[in-house]
Amino acid sequence: MTNHRDYYEVLDVPRGASPEEIRTKFRRLALEYHPDRNSDPGAQDKFKEVNEAYQVLSDPQKRAEYDRFGRVGVGAGGGAGRGFEGHDPFGGFGDIFDTFFGGFATSTRRAPQVGGDIQTAITLSFEEAVFGVEREIEVRRVEPCGRCGGKAAEPGHSPVQCTHCRGSGQVRRVQRSAFGQFAQIGPCPQCNGEGKIITNPCSQCSGSGRERRGRKIRVNIPPGVEEGNQVRLVGEGDSGSHGGPPGDLYIGLRVQPHEIFQRRDHEILYELPINFAQAALGDEMEVPTLDGPETLRVPEGTQAGTVFRIKGRGVPYAVKGKRGDHLVVVNVVTPRSLDENQRRLLEELAQTLSNGSKEDKGWLGKIKDTLGLDS
Ligand SMILES: [Zn+2]
Ligand SMILES: [Zn+2]
Repeated sequence: MTNHRDYYEVLDVPRGASPEEIRTKFRRLALEYHPDRNSDPGAQDKFKEVNEAYQVLSDPQKRAEYDRFGRVGVGAGGGAGRGFEGHDPFGGFGDIFDTFFGGFATSTRRAPQVGGDIQTAITLSFEEAVFGVEREIEVRRVEPCGRCGGKAAEPGHSPVQCTHCRGSGQVRRVQRSAFGQFAQIGPCPQCNGEGKIITNPCSQCSGSGRERRGRKIRVNIPPGVEEGNQVRLVGEGDSGSHGGPPGDLYIGLRVQPHEIFQRRDHEILYELPINFAQAALGDEMEVPTLDGPETLRVPEGTQAGTVFRIKGRGVPYAVKGKRGDHLVVVNVVTPRSLDENQRRLLEELAQTLSNGSKEDKGWLGKIKDTLGLDS
């Protein structure tokens, strides 16, 4: 990424400048530095800089993004790193300049067009969503033709200058009306305003210069993504036409549920079934986590719904090294069938036990509190 000067500084306008102010200032500076009018060695760079600043500040969405992040083209969730700077600074410039310089030279030439965005989706396993993954996906997108390199002519043949318009792409038509004679300038019908004619169209793309093809793209899915998130790869969409920049690729994410774990933001929930002897007497148990089994000491007198927190075994945060916790929710399982001996022992035990006291009530509320659930 090239370091650029502050766009507001480049255009010499205050940060709160109105669109009108920005436009006026841009016109003045563009006129001053336009390579056709200014032969200073630095003029061209200056002109590009002014144009780049204007492209961002004249677009409300890009301007808002620039105000927030100090740059434009930062994709959500770690894009490909190709941003605005990679685009042709003259892309999309035609229309502004045309109206400005009288619309003579290029107004009917085909203006650069941004390529289309592509939407696709991938399904991740629970673990891939938690820890991140590198995936290769295949998309079909429009690219410059592989045979003619986008030139539209069969290799070995060059387009020839249109004789009708002598390469200008436009023709002057004289019309007569009640008010007299006037000239009208329009696109050349012979070459469709291109200024050149392809005598031998490329056999692969039939002279369009573009073709749709499958392309494998590596995607880095960052850790901690969730169902419904979207990853944007800037510049990986359909290629633009007439020198316009490519569109973007959007990848929707689906996440498969886990067999034993649930996820809540950066925490992993696991339900640990124990019998009431373990609950009453305490026990040392092995519990599964995303990083493998961990030993957990369930203390004497553990109640159903008690939550144990294993630190740092949950979902990674964007900050490197920081992770959420693994929560173990105790479920005391009552036996569904007893053999004779167990029944006798329990009955004996029952004689000695009282009903739960008032303090033992309210565990449901306790679980909800611990887990932060809404009631
Ligand atoms: Zn071709
Ligand atoms: Zn022509």
